[in-house]
Amino acid sequence: MDWSAPLLRATPGDPVSGGNPRHVPGACWSRCSATAMPKPELRLWNGGLATSLGDLEADAALWSGQRLIEGMDPHAHRYGGHQFGNWAHQLGDGRALTLGHVNAASGLTEVQLKGAGRTPYSRRGDGRAVLRSSLREFLCSEAMHHLGVPTSRALSLCTTGEDVRRDMFYDGRPAMEPGAIVARTAPSFVRFGSFQMLAADGDEDVLRALMHHVVATHEPDHHVNDDAGIVAWLTDVAERSATMVSGWMRHGFVHGVMNTDNMSIHGLTIDYGPFGWLEAHDPSWTPNTTDLPGRRYRYAAQPDVVGWNVARLLEAVALAMDDPEPLHGVLDAYREAYRNARQQAWVERLGLSTWNEADEALVRDLQHVMHASQIDHVPMLRHLAEGVTTAEALRDAGRIYATEPDLSAIDAWIGRWLERVGGTPDTSTMQRTVPVFTPRNWVLQLAIDDAERGDWTKAEALATRLMRPFERLPEDEDAWWSGPRPEWAMTRPGCSMLSCSS
Ligand code: AMP
Ligand code: MG
Repeated sequence: MDWSAPLLRATPGDPVSGGNPRHVPGACWSRCSATAMPKPELRLWNGGLATSLGDLEADAALWSGQRLIEGMDPHAHRYGGHQFGNWAHQLGDGRALTLGHVNAASGLTEVQLKGAGRTPYSRRGDGRAVLRSSLREFLCSEAMHHLGVPTSRALSLCTTGEDVRRDMFYDGRPAMEPGAIVARTAPSFVRFGSFQMLAADGDEDVLRALMHHVVATHEPDHHVNDDAGIVAWLTDVAERSATMVSGWMRHGFVHGVMNTDNMSIHGLTIDYGPFGWLEAHDPSWTPNTTDLPGRRYRYAAQPDVVGWNVARLLEAVALAMDDPEPLHGVLDAYREAYRNARQQAWVERLGLSTWNEADEALVRDLQHVMHASQIDHVPMLRHLAEGVTTAEALRDAGRIYATEPDLSAIDAWIGRWLERVGGTPDTSTMQRTVPVFTPRNWVLQLAIDDAERGDWTKAEALATRLMRPFERLPEDEDAWWSGPRPEWAMTRPGCSMLSCSS
């Protein structure tokens, strides 16, 4: 296989390799290498992805950074970002290590290890990752891919044989947890924050070099030789970001940390951390304990937050333009793309033929009904798609969590919906677009509990199940991953709420 490190050829880097955490002005990257691991073991392997990338070898030494292939040139990428709305300046890959890009039939693909040790950007961190967060990222990014939402992919999960110290509850009671490394892929892991970092330092030439590199390497339909080209490219970035977040909204995904450093320049879902999947519908729900004070990254705010993040990218790239005025149109394009994608999602999910203005009220009232009676959002729609059209039946299926639900309000809404579709919703489109399976946090937690004891059966079962999210499979009947949220998941850490500790 043909490996290279295109970022290193196209942009300036750190003159020093490895070393202690520090500020690295004017650079886009620092060379560094993976920490030695006592006993790397390959636990999960994505055979399909490995094949599509040119038959990558299933080898623990490779995907833990202990062995390199010719052409690999391990490095950490320098970027900044707005965290929870505040500019944090230099962040960078504190525990991500890019091995290089593999030249695959599907395009040049970056392969990056997460948790392979300290880099110049580790700040006060140890550069490691724990098994629980690694397993969550592996399974959730793959689930996202099979749901059809743009995302980074997961190639492998290795345990390292070393324990990592984590204060999971941020309450001064750290404990040792098994360490792990996920190898993940994307065209590149360049972020909005990559451009922001250079703009913040006024590094106009480096910003231009990064922009030309990203576009020349990954955007065959674009050029950035003039303002018009830059605007066209950024419009695409904005529209792809709209597609991404509309995918999250339709499947009830809440990312949890939509900082600008976690926004891919390719419009992919990246940096899976304290994410979650909406259970009882609640527009203000956030899975991230750190986000609780302001709920900035709550479910319903995600489209606006992505728009805010796009605006920060535009401000950064403006530095490389003669006249940034036309950038206002990019924000309009974002809003328009999101509005269209949202309407399309509801047309499909409600089995409508087209969108009418009056459907806005139907959707709004559905959300009110779901919120008031704590109805599991996606499963409710899936039940409707399968002909379960009474509140009583929804309750019997366990998908209404309120102890005193307003059954007549639910039935009234279902009646309105049936009237809207003339009694015949397009159930085949609904079943094609409303999933049976999404990897809820409590389901992931059960797989994590077993994996931490050395039993990977549940993790492997999920890795298979998530490949066909829109099909109701015979094995779903009474499967441990099926059914409504169990009572214990309400209070168990890692299920209803997660911290950023990973
Ligand atoms: P995240 O919240 O995972 O997107 O990370 C935000 C920033 O913190 C990024 O610069 C990460 O590389 C860095 N970071 C997170 N965890 C660690 C860690 N254990 N060691 C070093 N850096 C980390
Ligand atoms: Mg991040």
